[in-house]
Amino acid sequence: MSFARIIDRPTIELPRLFDVKLHAIENIGENVEKLQLKDTVALLSGNTTYKVAGKKVKEVLEEAGKEVQILKIKEATTEVAKEAEKFYEEINADFAVAVGGGKVIDVTKFSSHEYNIPFVSVPTAASHDGIASARASLYGVDVKGSFPAKAPILVVGDISVLAKAPRRFTISGCADIISNKTAILDWELSRRITGEHMSSYASTLAEISAISMIEAREEIAKDPIKGAYHVFKGLITSSMAMCIDGSSRPASGAEHLISHSLDQLVEHPALHGEQVGMMSIFTMYLHGGNWQEIKETLEIIGAPTHVSQIGVDPEMLVNAILTAQSIRPERYTILATGVTRRAVIKALEKTGLIDKGSVDEKVGQ
Ligand SMILES: [Zn+2]
Repeated sequence: MSFARIIDRPTIELPRLFDVKLHAIENIGENVEKLQLKDTVALLSGNTTYKVAGKKVKEVLEEAGKEVQILKIKEATTEVAKEAEKFYEEINADFAVAVGGGKVIDVTKFSSHEYNIPFVSVPTAASHDGIASARASLYGVDVKGSFPAKAPILVVGDISVLAKAPRRFTISGCADIISNKTAILDWELSRRITGEHMSSYASTLAEISAISMIEAREEIAKDPIKGAYHVFKGLITSSMAMCIDGSSRPASGAEHLISHSLDQLVEHPALHGEQVGMMSIFTMYLHGGNWQEIKETLEIIGAPTHVSQIGVDPEMLVNAILTAQSIRPERYTILATGVTRRAVIKALEKTGLIDKGSVDEKVGQ
């Protein structure tokens, strides 16, 4: 390691408390006291998620003597994040609590960082690994991007709530973690070819979370409570890997770039984890690794493994793959090594993601 790396080490920001168990919401008052958070709370939630968990969070916080004001969030845009900041100012908020899915958490994560107050994360679905990381995905006026934000001070994983979320969300969260397997291989490839720094601590954590999903796949498939618990723990480990590296690199490689590419091309994209899990089969094939293990695991948990299951036309998938690296050229992946249209089609056919002959090799050349 060079001296420059030692001098320029990024500051690592991690959550202080994790409370992951059945009915964890009932302890939220106790936990915010432990953290010495003050009295005025901005509670951000969605319409449905407020009914599912937000109302209960409000009650428990009020019992603990807090004054709770509600702001409903519908979209994860930079404009909505600005509105949230205005809301904090109006009520003079001491801290923010996000109760909901990815959109609510991303808006709260970003706006509380900008307004400089602590934030508590109460996810209502174990659907992606942004729940405890320090980056927020938001739509700008015409771009979708990942913005620096802050890690939550407290993460509440109420398994009774998470287990009741639509199953598709837990499956998607699990598939997102499994994709760490190929994200790490892309990182390793970049280390070898471009000299990019690779944190062994962060990459090991990211890999452990993926391995734990493969090991627990039968339980995840059969038991909603145990499944939600395994997946939530995996999401936290994956989030920690990103916090330690200070970037999404440990959990986001070519499979994520292809998913972002699909989001831009397809009118109704599938869930984030469904797309990245499936594309991880493809990129593992390109890396020459055990793509069958990823495919088998996704099949067992009930995640999509064929393009028709995510409602995408095979030709569109090929285009999404061929344009993916240009979305983020600085993130070096296996796609930067000159993968041709013909090679993409062959790999998709070989891994069973598309049917043989469903795409003409010559079109677009
Ligand atoms: Zn992801």
